[in-house]
Amino acid sequence: MARRKKVYEGKAKILYEGPEPGTLVQYFKDDATAGNGAKKDVIDGKGVLNNRLSEFFMTGLQSIGIPTHFIRRLNMREQLIRHVEIIPLEVIVRNFAAGSMAKRLGMEEGTVLPRPIVEFSYKNDELGDPLVPEEYIIAFGWATQQDLDDIVSLALRVNDFLSGVMHGVGIKLVDFKIEVGRIWENDYPRLVVADEISPDSCRLWDVETGTKLDKDVFRRDLGSLSDAYTEVARRLGVLPSNVTHRPKPTLIN
Ligand code: C5P
Repeated sequence: MARRKKVYEGKAKILYEGPEPGTLVQYFKDDATAGNGAKKDVIDGKGVLNNRLSEFFMTGLQSIGIPTHFIRRLNMREQLIRHVEIIPLEVIVRNFAAGSMAKRLGMEEGTVLPRPIVEFSYKNDELGDPLVPEEYIIAFGWATQQDLDDIVSLALRVNDFLSGVMHGVGIKLVDFKIEVGRIWENDYPRLVVADEISPDSCRLWDVETGTKLDKDVFRRDLGSLSDAYTEVARRLGVLPSNVTHRPKPTLIN
């Protein structure tokens, strides 16, 4: 195959130039990182599962009229996406206290929030993606007030959809992160859900047992990350038939 031009490489994905103008190919790696890269590992098959899961969520969102960057899955690890201008924010929606919010406010993880809370972090690895108020976002020109109003309503629609889908398979959507991109259509800007939606970017707890089925398994050393992601994919019926998570052979001296 002809060598493709790499446009960007992040911690879990690589973007290549796409086959047509305005498109990119998004490749899902097996790399797992936590603590902004402080902890790293390679988890066999994670990229394949996240490619499938992100496809499942993005096509589901599109089916209810929520625009996303997703065009189609190309193969086990790659999907064709629209080239968007990424707004440099991580948009986080929380239904229950967990992670950085629980720590910051001294709340018990799992406390139900009075309503879904949307918060923004500035996407900057060197700074560790700091939480930022809307005032900063507008003052520094990262997004306009209109963009922010649109992003909040987009994020809440995504939350309703994902919460419902997850609830249907016995999983509680504790929180998640999305990224939002801007595309131009006939000189009009339009905001779309970009990046990925997968257990790397959500907190997912089993409704009955509270078992964690997301990246916290890796962040907190709670067991096998691929078992957790495989369980999410299995429940949603998106397990690719040729990804079996077999134990690795043990070498005997
Ligand atoms: O760490 P924190 O509690 O702020 O994370 C909130 C949600 O956003 C979690 O679901 C986490 O997986 C996700 N997140 C992410 N990428 C980041 C930071 C948070 O996907 N850089």
